[in-house]
Amino acid sequence: MKDKNNLLSNIPSVDELMREKDIERLTSAYHRAAVVEGIREYLKDYRRLLLSLEEEENPAEISSPDMIKGIIEKVNDMMRNNLVNVVNATGVVLHTNLGRSPLAESAMNAILDIAPRYSNLEMDLESGDRGSRYSHVEELICRLTGAQAAMVVNNNAAAVMLVLSTMAKGREVVVSRGQLVEIGGSFRVPDVMEQSGVTLVEIGTTNKTHVSDYEKAVNENTAAFMKVHTSNYRILGFTSQVESEDMVALGRRLGLPVIEDLGSGMLMDLTEFGLPYEPTVQKAIKAGMDVVTFSGDKMLGGPQAGIIAGSRKYIDSMKKNPLTRAVRIDKLTLAALEGTLRLYSDRELALAQIPVLRMLTFNMEELGKRAKRLSLRLRKTLGTMADVNIADEFSEVGGGSMPLHKMPTKAVLIKPDSVSLTELEEMLRKYKTPVIARISRDRLILDVRTIMDDEYETVEGALQWAFSALSKSSAAGGSGKA
Ligand SMILES: *Cc1c(COP(=O)(O)O)cnc(C)c1O
Repeated sequence: MKDKNNLLSNIPSVDELMREKDIERLTSAYHRAAVVEGIREYLKDYRRLLLSLEEEENPAEISSPDMIKGIIEKVNDMMRNNLVNVVNATGVVLHTNLGRSPLAESAMNAILDIAPRYSNLEMDLESGDRGSRYSHVEELICRLTGAQAAMVVNNNAAAVMLVLSTMAKGREVVVSRGQLVEIGGSFRVPDVMEQSGVTLVEIGTTNKTHVSDYEKAVNENTAAFMKVHTSNYRILGFTSQVESEDMVALGRRLGLPVIEDLGSGMLMDLTEFGLPYEPTVQKAIKAGMDVVTFSGDKMLGGPQAGIIAGSRKYIDSMKKNPLTRAVRIDKLTLAALEGTLRLYSDRELALAQIPVLRMLTFNMEELGKRAKRLSLRLRKTLGTMADVNIADEFSEVGGGSMPLHKMPTKAVLIKPDSVSLTELEEMLRKYKTPVIARISRDRLILDVRTIMDDEYETVEGALQWAFSALSKSSAAGGSGKA
């Protein structure tokens, strides 16, 4: 074995490496400068590794083919986007850190159509005059929800701010103490109120609020009553909140509008699938809410957006608010939202094609089949390296929706024979298409609810890669010390 100085002086030059056929071939895919940069980075790492060794430690020489392979990997790594697809094996359907809601195919096709060309985003094709970007989805939202008017903005947090700033800036809004929610990512009702220039008037207690509490809070500076869906927590036991209909009746009597932040905003009741009741937008509109707001990418299953639906006079004044410009919806989002909303014209179509609804409504038989399919595949690939079994587990809705509901699911459980479970979980995250799994009771858990139909091969590839990398590194570690 050569010594370290010898190896250092024998490192090939960038020019020499550029002349290698396999490396040169990279320049057909990437710019030449990027390939050179990749070689430099690779050599820098190699040099650093050699220098870090103690004098008496003799490093293994990297063979020329291995070096070329390493450089190709490095260049590919450097050119890969940072934002990449991952496989969600957590079973959390609306996983906020994993992008919440995957889009339906028709929503995605709408983006592909609109993105590379010009569109009638803000042109009225009848008159040739300037049009409104909201017109493309307003009618659709009204038809689905029963609202008189609608508009859409960047997300629901922005929707709430816009509503408050338009309807109550410099005035007071009355909210029950039991509904002062905080949503992950620092959306807190009291802070949003403050940011919107609205004074929050808290009424009732954490567990109980009565109609009379609302009435007593009203003065000449009151602008509205607001109801906030406690989407990510429940207050149980001796509790009562005022029904929407009663809030609306009081609002009407006192001449005050009533606003509801629904959070998730369902357009369909899914209780027949064993899911808990979640208030639908239609029901809120029917109860007489003047304005409701909800997310596009929670249970609706569309792109990130905030939807505002309600009385025309309020929606019209929101469209004129200068804040609207700062929170306006992007055309690609608009395309995806329209593509998603159109599926809701037919309940069966929506359930079959909107990924979030499909995952939430899988039955046990379907989940069982999926688990079987995955486990057979993995058992074959992993052989004696791990125990592969199927077990009953629970998945979560996620995204702060239906917080107490645990959905029974089927999962594939992996118990490695010799590699460490935490290292395995970590390695899977480093695969070229990362696989996000969790560990529970000494097993790696792959929940098949959120693994998509065409991702089984990726999961298999990731596990094979991770096991091989981990057993290699433990073997290398062992011989290095011997
Ligand atoms: C999720 C949620 C929000 C924030 O919606 P985003 O679309 O994430 O901005 C606001 N209010 C409630 C009640 C929510 O559940």
